[in-house]
Amino acid sequence: MGSIVGLTSTIPVEIVLAAGCTPLDLNNIFITSPAPDKLIQQAEHAGFAHNLCAWIKGIYSVTLERNIPCIIAVTGGDCSNTTALAEVLERRGVKVIRFDFPLSRDREPLRGQMENLSQALGAPWSEVERVRVRLSTIRRKLQKLDRLTYEENRVSGFENHLFLVTSSDFKSDPEAYEKELDLFLSEVAKRPSLEDSMRLGYLGVPPIFSDLYEYLESVGARVVFNEVQRQFSMPFDEADIVDQYLHYTYPYGIRGRLDDIRKAIKERKLDGLIHYTQTFCFRQIYDILLRESLPLPVLTIEGDKPGKVDSRTAIRLETFVEMLRMRTGDQWF
Ligand code: SF4
Repeated sequence: MGSIVGLTSTIPVEIVLAAGCTPLDLNNIFITSPAPDKLIQQAEHAGFAHNLCAWIKGIYSVTLERNIPCIIAVTGGDCSNTTALAEVLERRGVKVIRFDFPLSRDREPLRGQMENLSQALGAPWSEVERVRVRLSTIRRKLQKLDRLTYEENRVSGFENHLFLVTSSDFKSDPEAYEKELDLFLSEVAKRPSLEDSMRLGYLGVPPIFSDLYEYLESVGARVVFNEVQRQFSMPFDEADIVDQYLHYTYPYGIRGRLDDIRKAIKERKLDGLIHYTQTFCFRQIYDILLRESLPLPVLTIEGDKPGKVDSRTAIRLETFVEMLRMRTGDQWF
């Protein structure tokens, strides 16, 4: 295993692998840790304010707990909190490489950022291209998994979420990840289709709730579109790595996201949308634009700390699904 490089968000993982390093998405490590609450408390003891997003605190603690020697901090196109977090981690002895997605979404500055990252990690560009081709095989299999979710209804919303969200670092080992994916796809092919339910799109950053998808299924709805998680999997079939990361909507303005969501609404025959927002996250403001621009009912929910869906949110989700059912004229009991 090459030296571990922590990721604060999705970046061109091809470059990390081409350098012979092992990528580790710090968000996924935080949320799947046995006690994510403790990680948040540790960060608060270290001085992180209560009114700061839980993901930032989780990333801080997990980096130190795991002795991650180097991180790539996305300081442009993701979150301004990461800029300050990176400086604190630097002070704690962690090597920080900064990566900025250019707000302009222009090719040249993005290519410049990628070249800087390659130089910082010592990854030859020819090797980056070789890794891109290798990963595109896995990315195509993820597209298949996604289609099996919304076309053939054989994959649950949670399964879809899990595979797509972990494609940010391919669980640190693309070969093992691909084997797990192959096995899953062959098992899914033998499954019957899931029962009819309200078809939902999930918008926004991945949920901090542990049982959101399960809860939705218990009230007769299924997520068949995980917007941002799907973006992490880069389902674009671009023949050039710069184009691939230009196509990626998450770090840029809302326009690209809206086009992507509108397409999904039609293609996946969605009945409604859930916009997840993280407490204390600036991205909550996008709720205004999503609501004003999309042609379906949107329920906005908010999560703060890791754990199960709270009772208030549970009631709101159930009522929303019920409203959608009445709206579509479906008699479901
Ligand atoms: S949820 Fe929002 S505030 Fe928290 S790390 Fe992500 S972008 Fe930043």
